Amino acid sequence: MNIVDIKQNNRKKIYFYIRENNFATKQDIAYDLQLSLPTVTQNLEYLCKAKLIGSNQKLSTKSGGRNPIAYSYIADAKVAIGLDITKHSINGVVMDLMGNVINRIFLKRDFRNNGEYFILLGNLVENMIDNIHLDRQKLLGIGIAMPGLINEEQGLVVDGRVISNTGISNKDFVKYIPYPTKLVHDSNASGFSEIWMSPEIHNAFYISLCNSIGGSVLVNDKVYMGDGLYSGEVGHMNLVPNGKPCYCGQRGCFDAYCNAERLANYSNDDLGLFFLRLKQGDEMLQKVWNEYLDYLAIAVHDIRMLFGCKIILGGYVGAYMKDYMDLLCERVNAKNPFGENAHEFLLPCKNKVESVATGASLYFIDEFFKNFGKNPMED
Ligand SMILES: [Zn+2]
Repeated sequence: MNIVDIKQNNRKKIYFYIRENNFATKQDIAYDLQLSLPTVTQNLEYLCKAKLIGSNQKLSTKSGGRNPIAYSYIADAKVAIGLDITKHSINGVVMDLMGNVINRIFLKRDFRNNGEYFILLGNLVENMIDNIHLDRQKLLGIGIAMPGLINEEQGLVVDGRVISNTGISNKDFVKYIPYPTKLVHDSNASGFSEIWMSPEIHNAFYISLCNSIGGSVLVNDKVYMGDGLYSGEVGHMNLVPNGKPCYCGQRGCFDAYCNAERLANYSNDDLGLFFLRLKQGDEMLQKVWNEYLDYLAIAVHDIRMLFGCKIILGGYVGAYMKDYMDLLCERVNAKNPFGENAHEFLLPCKNKVESVATGASLYFIDEFFKNFGKNPMED
């Protein structure tokens, strides 16, 4: 490590110390991080000047001596926006550096691959910024999550048959959204948001049980992309030879048995209503749900055998899974050759409503933290 690296490293340590503790005095920092007071002072001055921390609080001391200055974390020093674009709706969030959603929008609007739709997205972004009087300098970027096979490095939807978005690229957005943008796969965004909010989990498989099924492989806190673009696309694992037709053209895919629409179809396309009636004891829905769990258990078992890691149940159905974990785990346990208890590796998602949008925004926040200390004045 050279002298520049050490300096950057100290700044990063001090910044994250204040983030973790919310506020701290110069003496706390010097003592806990074992740094000299001049080093701490110099870095605090830098961070204050960059408006990443504040120094306006004073701690009271029992001794009655001079109160030391407490340096506080500024959570909205930088923010990122995430957009979740689905077939029939747009969900957007503004996220601060602590992972708090500080503004959100939800709009029922059918996806269209045309200029009018992109103008609408641009206006939504501007409204979200204006509504909270946000200084645009603070905006790190906008993560745009969509279904489809997405080459995230090139920013291009390669196969978008779920919402007909094939061929859409970052370039389509920049005309209307004048900020850094990143196009991400929706299930990857959700999986990333779960792992970001679960510091104790570093490896997991995230199953997204939405109107189409997706998944995300998370290794060492990162999304594993594989060599192609469809790592984690468990929706098209074959569960039943020659089974029900899937939208992909094949038969017997996991998606054809366990997508959220299959359940919602039994209750006026309203998944919430499905689970309400299920709770009320509707016999027909009990049967549908039991069959659903039978198939879901096969997929969960196969994924466990393949990765041997935690499995998170997310998406629209995942949001309701908490009350049915015993039923599902029972089924998964019956298949396990090693006597494992699924309660120890199978979890319902934490982020129940906005995981795609929050995950899309977190890409920028994660990047900001990773590069912290490398840029002058962190801008
Ligand atoms: Zn399929």
